Amino acid sequence: MTGESCIFCKIANKEIASRIVFEDDEALAFQDINPQAPVHVVVISKRHIEKLTDLKESDAALAGKLILVCRDIAKTENCEGSGYRVVINTNRDAGQSVFHLHAHLLGGRRFVWPPG
Ligand code: AMP
Ligand code: ZN
Repeated sequence: MTGESCIFCKIANKEIASRIVFEDDEALAFQDINPQAPVHVVVISKRHIEKLTDLKESDAALAGKLILVCRDIAKTENCEGSGYRVVINTNRDAGQSVFHLHAHLLGGRRFVWPPG
């Protein structure tokens, strides 16, 4: 899928509305439309990258940025102390459904391990 037809690119370009919780030049975070926990925020790179596998060495700062945004949102969404999970589903077996790199920040309830 190209960036043009990608739903997360459309969200980043404000062509599709979302409930934004954080934004800067490189990253955008918004409420998941189908939340799997009381806190469920999707953190994306504004640049279209299909998946984790496609990250390059030169993307190291961007990758770190996405993790730090998750860290900050865990604090503002009040699940820093109770606990939270950051998930990057990649390809079929992990259930990736939107092929634009994103991290899920999940919190507000207890999660099981191993994941289902
Ligand atoms: P994944 O299955 O890891 O690719 O995650 C994609 C996530 O994007 C799912 O949790 C969806 O609920 C979420 N999602 C899809 N479309 C939208 C949208 N328009 N606004 C907010 N979240 C969305
Ligand atoms: Zn995209």
